[in-house]
Parts: sequence; structure tokens; C-alpha cells
Amino acid sequence: MNAPIENAAYVIPPVGIPTLGVEGSTQLFPIHRIYCVGRNYADHAIEMGHDPDKEPPFFFQKNPDNVIANGTFPYPDKSSDVHFEIEMLVAIGKGGINIPIESALDHVWGYGVGLDMTRRDLQGEAKKLGRPWEVGKAFEASAPCTALVPASRIGHPTDGKVWLNVNGKQRQIGDLNQMIWKVPEMISYLSSLFELKAGDIIMSGTPAGVGAIVRGDLMEGGVDGVGTLTAKVV
Ligand code: MN
Repeated sequence: MNAPIENAAYVIPPVGIPTLGVEGSTQLFPIHRIYCVGRNYADHAIEMGHDPDKEPPFFFQKNPDNVIANGTFPYPDKSSDVHFEIEMLVAIGKGGINIPIESALDHVWGYGVGLDMTRRDLQGEAKKLGRPWEVGKAFEASAPCTALVPASRIGHPTDGKVWLNVNGKQRQIGDLNQMIWKVPEMISYLSSLFELKAGDIIMSGTPAGVGAIVRGDLMEGGVDGVGTLTAKVV
């Protein structure tokens, strides 16, 4: 997954650049940061005990090297309640600050499908104690992702089923058109808080139905019009 950095000037060998594949190409998409939108589908906000009308979506981050290619998901340590959250990925190809909503889609390179895997027990404890969420969200391999598809090929999807099956049984189902914050709005808002850069990935939130997996489970999910993802829990 990591591309080598050819440079002899470092005192220690630098870790490689995390990447995602590109559908139908041997070229790679270099990942800069990963921003995740919380509670961006009303029915998921409700299932997590929140009122979607009173609480706008918010952002947290995963580490860029938390991404793994889809195929397997290694069950993490320190948790007995690891949840799936199927999400559309938005890959930024052109950075900026204070990006207007009207031109936000010009900054999108492409789209993909990812899982925002969550150690829900550790996240719950962090919430209760007012602590940061990294232990629940930003652990190794917490983001199994498909290869990306360029917007030049599929356009900018605004509707389409977002779904996840576990062992062949439907667990999550929603539609991109149910997003509280649409892609242009999240790009515009994010770019008012952070300088977006080429290589940033936005995980755009998950519909209702999140739940736990155990070793041996097979997660299959997708976003219609974008791609499908498979991850065996090992
Ligand atoms: Mn999520």
C-alpha cells in the first residue's frame, strides 16, 4: 500500500505515503488526511441517541495509514464491540480554504466506498468521559476501502443506495440523497476549518443499522454507482 519516498536526507527511513488504488488503472491516489463526518444521516443520528434537528454533523479524523485495501479486516485488540459503518469516500484532487459551495465539486477527484470501523466500546467510554475519539476510531486497519473511481468517469453521485450485508444478511441500508450535509456543503465547511489538500479523503457518514461483527464474518457493502467492498473479519 505504501509508495517509497526516494530521499536520502532523512535521519531515519520515512514511512511511505499511504495510498488507495484507482479502478482500472495501475496509478495510485496518495492519501494526505482522512476526515470523517459524524451523524450525517438522520436515521443513524437517531439510533445513536441524538436529535438530528438539534445537532449539526461534525468532523473527526482517522490516520491516513489506517486505510487498508478491501478484502480483509483484522479484528483489533482492546475491544469486544467493533462496529461497521459503510460510507461513501470523497477524494479531494484540488485543495483550498474557504471553498464556496457552488464550486466545491471542482475540488473532487473521485469517489470510493469505505468502512469507518469503530471500537464502539472505547468510543462510548471516551464520549462519557469527554475524551478524544482516536482510540475508538483511528486504530490500525480501521478503514478498509475500495479503489477510487474518478469523477470524470462516474460524475458526482447524489443518490444511490448505501448498503452493507453481513454474512449475506442486510444490516445497513440508506441512500446518498438522505445525507444531511451534501458533499459540496461538507467540502465548503471543512475548508473553513482546515486547509484542504489534494489527497484528502472525506468519509461522508453512515446510514442507520450499524452493528457489531465477530471474527469470521463477511462484510459486503457498497454505494450504487460507485463501487462495492468486501471485507472478511480475521
Ligand atoms: Mn462514520
